[in-house]
Amino acid sequence: MDFPLLIFTDLDGTLLDHHSYSYNGAAKALQRLRQHSIPIILASSKTKAELQRLQTKLGLNEPFIAENGGAVFIPADYSMLATHTLEKLGDYYLRQFGRPYRYIREIFETLRAKYNIKGFGDMTVEEIMAVTGLASEEALLAGQRDFTEPFLFLSEPLLQGLKEDAADKGLKITRGGRFYHLMAARQDKGLAVKETLQLFQAGSPDKIVTVGLGDAENDFLMLKTVDIPVLIPKPDGSYENLELRGLRRPPYPGSKGWGAAIMAILDDFQQAVTQNIKCNDHAAKD
Ligand SMILES: [Mg+2]
Repeated sequence: MDFPLLIFTDLDGTLLDHHSYSYNGAAKALQRLRQHSIPIILASSKTKAELQRLQTKLGLNEPFIAENGGAVFIPADYSMLATHTLEKLGDYYLRQFGRPYRYIREIFETLRAKYNIKGFGDMTVEEIMAVTGLASEEALLAGQRDFTEPFLFLSEPLLQGLKEDAADKGLKITRGGRFYHLMAARQDKGLAVKETLQLFQAGSPDKIVTVGLGDAENDFLMLKTVDIPVLIPKPDGSYENLELRGLRRPPYPGSKGWGAAIMAILDDFQQAVTQNIKCNDHAAKD
């Protein structure tokens, strides 16, 4: 890291455009982050399998936070972190916050008997493609769940009752850009971000500054946890209702807003570093 910066980012509607899943608008900012070796931690409702594929596409090999904070996965060959306290699973070290998908589905099925809900586990790959707009291979990866169940819920007035019934089982419901998600009550993106930061901070002599970017309610705890929160607008230009000190609201939705926000933050940092050098020069001369 040239600057002690760490970027945590949501994907759908944030780094990726809501409809096309394109990240073209962020290409320059991504390149600039890479030039400075600033880690980009994907923190999404997506599965491990989807995030692995996206990392490859984006040219990243970093820790990532899957399924709304269900777990943080750290590549086994990742040298920037001390991983000795973590569990190893295949090619990754893992810190898990979520509960196993088997349990989540069990509870989901009891809730389904009472509410009009339809989860990914009830859908064929074709149906997942239809509700997400993903291609077949990606929809298949989206269906490989470990900790959470995304679902459609058509009777929103009954949401409070559904939330209370989930809470009785130690679970909770949050809303993303497209779906509701059923998951363990104790897991969230904010907690996973905190734990990931601690792992990075343990190996860094400088205080790391964190940036978080998101667009939906399930990003709020992540945005509250970071030093520089960025709220990306929805495709219609409106913002989720969130008030936070220092919250940045770039004017464009999706990847273009992401790119603009990161460019501005990097400019600020570069300016601060330059000023610091000038101050130190003065101090040396005095
Ligand atoms: Mg989103």
